[in-house]
Formats: sequence, C-alpha cells, structure tokens
Amino acid sequence: MAHITINGSQGEGGGQILRSSLALSMITQTPISIHSIRGKRKSPGLKNQHLTSVRAAATVCNGELTGDYLGSGKISFSPSTITAGNYLFDTGTAGSCFLVFQTIFPALMIASEPSHLTIRGGTHNLMAPPAEFVDRSFLGTLRSVGVSTSMLLNRYGYYPQGGGEIEISLDPSRPNFLNLTDLSPIRSIVGETVLIKKQQNIATVQNEELRAIIPSIELTNHSPFAVGPGNSVTVTVNRDEISQVFTGFGKRETPPNITARVVALKAKEYITSGVAVDSHLTDQLMIPLLLGNGGKFTCPKPTLHATTNAEIMRMFTGAEIRFEQISENQWMCEVPSLRSFRDQ
Ligand code: ATP
Repeated sequence: MAHITINGSQGEGGGQILRSSLALSMITQTPISIHSIRGKRKSPGLKNQHLTSVRAAATVCNGELTGDYLGSGKISFSPSTITAGNYLFDTGTAGSCFLVFQTIFPALMIASEPSHLTIRGGTHNLMAPPAEFVDRSFLGTLRSVGVSTSMLLNRYGYYPQGGGEIEISLDPSRPNFLNLTDLSPIRSIVGETVLIKKQQNIATVQNEELRAIIPSIELTNHSPFAVGPGNSVTVTVNRDEISQVFTGFGKRETPPNITARVVALKAKEYITSGVAVDSHLTDQLMIPLLLGNGGKFTCPKPTLHATTNAEIMRMFTGAEIRFEQISENQWMCEVPSLRSFRDQ
C-alpha cells in the first residue's frame, strides 16, 4: 500500500496513535511516517515504553525503522513479513508491558505460526491496562470468540520500580463475530487487594470499603513477591460472556479507603449503566475485531481514545467504526470485519 503520513498530535494526541498506527502498518503492510508523536502530552516524543513498542514492531515484522531514540518526535517505519516466534522485550523501566504487547499482538494474531512473548517492565501502571484487565477482560473477551491465547503473570511490576514479567502465548486466530448486545445476569463480583511491601491493614481498610459499596462482593488479598512496593485494588464483574475489570492504585497522597472507593464506584456505575464493555476495553477491542469477523457491543459514550483509534483505523483500511447512542448511558459500537469490508 502507498505510504501514509500520520500526525501524532491529532485527536487524543498520545501514545495510542503510535501503537495503533504501527499495528495497522504491519497488518496492511503499509510504510508510514509519524510526526508530532504524543504531541498533546506535557513531555512529547518517545518514552521508554513507546521506544520498546516501536522496536518490538520492527523486530516482529523485520521492519525498517528510523527515528527510534528517546524523546524522538518523528519515526518512519516500513514493515516486511510478520514473523511469529519466541520474543523477549524489556521496557527497562516501569513502562507498561501491555502497551508493548498491544502494539504487536494484532500482527501476531494473523501470523502463520504460534508466538510466545515474554515482556518485562510494568504490569500494574496507572493509565495502562493492568495484568488482570488484560487477562480477563481483553484476552478473556477474545478467547470467547475463538482466539487461542493464554497469559502468565510471572512477577508483578509497579511504578516506579517496574521489574515485572508476563508471558503470553498466542496461536494465529481470527476472532469470530463478537455480539455483546444482550447480557446474561452478573454471576459474581470479586474484589482483590494486592499489597507489596506495604502495611497489611491497608487491605482490611480497602476490603471494608469495597464491601460497603458493593455488599455482594467476594473478597481476596494477595501479597506476591515483587520488587515493589505497590498497592492495587481490582474489582471484576463476571458474566458468562464477559469479565469486566476495574483497577485503582494506592498512592502516597490518597487514603487507602479512597483508592478502593473510586474503583468500587466505577464498577457500580458500569453495572448500573448496563453496558457490556467499559471505555478502555472498547478502544482496545477495535483492531482485533476488525481483523476477525467484526463485532457489536454496548459501551459508554465513546472517549477521545476510541474515536481517535477509529479515525486511525479508517485511514489505513477505509473501515468505519460506528458509535450510536441507544439510551441515556448506552452506545452501540459496531466494528466491521476487514475481510468482508474488503470483499465488497
Ligand atoms: P501517553 O502518555 O501518550 O498518554 P500512553 O501510550 O501511556 O501514552 P495512552 O495513549 O493514554 O497511553 O493509552 C493508554 C491505553 O491504556 C489505552 O488503550 C487505554 O484504554 C488503556 N488504559 C488506561 N487505563 C486503563 C485501565 N485502568 N484499565 C484498562 N485499560 C486502561
């Protein structure tokens, strides 16, 4: 396909544009240039996490890459054949493992052989998908439509120390049509507190807060080995067809009960709204569904992340992602299949 130039400061103007553009460049075999990378962020340009993603993309598709240095505002990337295999990537910091994964996963999904990824860095980062979300919500939803993949969280990695490690195995697969328009009743709601090198009474405080807001919640605590310290609170809302994960992170300036309260209220809002997919999962499912048979699901009002992602997808493929408001708090997101779209 002809070369595409992407303005990295359009729409949401952050790292998502870079990752989606690299993923779509590999999938459509389109050479790209991206300028003004993360142009709407306070410190624009490539950070460690983005640099690892860019280089990971070049590795899995034997791509030609220029501009890959810390702080760079411009790269050019020319993909070649996507090559499945065993790969190890390391952000070298607490940079999110899962944002690196997000960049290369769609390409490896359509490769001709299975892949096994080991990625080191942050597994529990603010503003990135945490491990539980990736395993249960993102990969869990894709498993439900036939994607063969599994994940191991070998070591937790919290900001700022990082030092986490995940492994993801993936067989080449095209997702079946995802239909999440009518939901079955909630099967269970599970709350988990993770404490690493922190006072144990924090878990008690956080669990009490979760139960005060969601009385039916089932509670667990873990104190796994990790470089740490770290504290996260996760609420998982389980239905037969989808597990939606919400996570909050303990911060020095935030009382522990408030961390738990914010997460519980997010989960409650999701339950009350009756949508299937939260706003984070919405923007993350779009590219994988496009590569398969498409999908249709209810979600909250589309975020700027989602609409920017949709615009990047349109630039590369011509595919239109549709969002339609169907009630006060619900939108319907429809993702076409790239295959049927191309057959038209
Ligand atoms: P930047 O610093 O440029 O914002 P970034 O690359 O770290 O860069 P974003 O472009 O904001 O990040 O993209 C963050 C990604 O992480 C999005 O896919 C978003 O849906 C996801 N994400 C953020 N917070 C959560 C969360 N709590 N749960 C699940 N996913 C999340």
